[in-house]
Amino acid sequence: MRVAVFGTGYVGLVTGTCLAEVGHRVTCVDIDRDKIEGLKQGRIPIYEPGLEPMVLANHAAGRLDFDTDAEAVVARADVLMIAVGTPPDEDGSADLSHVLAVARTIGRSLSRPAVVANKSTVPVGTADRVRAAIAAELAARGVAVEFEVVSNPEFLKEGAAVNDCMRPDRIIVGSRNPRAVETMKRLYAPFNRSHERVVVMDERSAELTKYAANAMLATKISFMNEMANIAERVGADIEMVRLGIGSDPRIGYHFIYPGAGYGGSCFPKDVQALERTARQHGYRARILDAVEAVNAEQKSKMFELLARHYGGEAGLRGKVVAVWGLAFKPNTDDMREAPSRTLLAQLWAAGARVRAYDPEAMTEARRLFGGREDLVLCDSPEAALAGADALALVTEWKAFWSPDFALLARALGDKVIVDGRNLYPPDEVEAAGLAYYGIGRGRSL
Ligand code: NAD
Repeated sequence: MRVAVFGTGYVGLVTGTCLAEVGHRVTCVDIDRDKIEGLKQGRIPIYEPGLEPMVLANHAAGRLDFDTDAEAVVARADVLMIAVGTPPDEDGSADLSHVLAVARTIGRSLSRPAVVANKSTVPVGTADRVRAAIAAELAARGVAVEFEVVSNPEFLKEGAAVNDCMRPDRIIVGSRNPRAVETMKRLYAPFNRSHERVVVMDERSAELTKYAANAMLATKISFMNEMANIAERVGADIEMVRLGIGSDPRIGYHFIYPGAGYGGSCFPKDVQALERTARQHGYRARILDAVEAVNAEQKSKMFELLARHYGGEAGLRGKVVAVWGLAFKPNTDDMREAPSRTLLAQLWAAGARVRAYDPEAMTEARRLFGGREDLVLCDSPEAALAGADALALVTEWKAFWSPDFALLARALGDKVIVDGRNLYPPDEVEAAGLAYYGIGRGRSL
């Protein structure tokens, strides 16, 4: 099939590439000329494991192309996918301007029957607005072309996006139009061989499914962080509690790690947007409010532990803190809403300086913070320790899992570690002569 994908970010580029990998002919369209030029020359704008070789191979094979000229692409596509950003508006609700801009572009160029599939995360009712925007453009042109709008939310995880896309847990197709559903099933047939993964429902349920999934995951994180905060106060170790509750299959081990709060481009904005949607419909979503509030506080947890060690914020003035991990989670270069950003801002506000290292997010860190005098971006974990007084482990990249604690004790002026992911065994760290602070480990009282 011929597919056009609008937006070449984490979702659009990965989806387009995976669809090309299984034999479809895909053109990725973006308004960012530099991105498209770079992609044509084999420069991949994001870090995502396994993506680069797949893009290069499919481009070379002629199945994957990149363009800024939407008109030509729309004219020959069977399926048009919308995968542009839906950032938070000023009031926290989803900004649909990019999605609706694509809808209008489609309406201006559509000349043959097509299915428009929306992969962006959008509030309930957006399929109707996309349909109306396309219809208005067609009417203005005085042409009648058959089209159907399908909600097809995306569930890939940054850091594992290619794998998620090639082996999806489920494929949600939101449409009440049997022909559009059939088209989507044909599109996804190569991903659906071992068992049925396509779940068909109406557009509104599909749109809400995406928010419900992210809200549930964010809730699990905030719940565990709340348990961690209780554990810390009562002298319990949340890591023991985690193992104890995860063993119950109704709870499970997935996604119950306490930490420095959730970040990234999805959970914060999606929880907020769903909360706003609920409010617009006269319902106060109290669980979502609490999930957000707990998370906002949790993002300050690492700073709070450091300040506690130094006898208050004032004790951090002039200190040098090594920060391991800047990306909002491992295996990505994405720093949107990352807990590291909260920690950095708080350290700087307290007069501390930072030496930071991340395996993939250095370019992004340079873009965000380049030129600051109180930040040194280092090219290895060891370099970040040079001259540092304390270490803050923010992102659980594998490279940080097994440090030499004796070496850390020699390198760190004040011999203190704040472990924002509970990676390290407190006894071992302390045996090496370091002070250890984890998340929700009552022993750190
Ligand atoms: P992104 O910011 O990485 O990429 C968006 C791209 O869209 C950019 O390259 C931008 O230039 C392009 N764009 C904007 N307006 C355009 C237009 N009119 N025509 C063509 N291109 C245009 O975004 P993302 O992280 O890929 O997210 C896209 C959507 O998918 C969002 O709604 C997000 O919530 C959702 N989503 C994201 C993830 C994730 O992990 N990142 C997972 C599932 C769903």
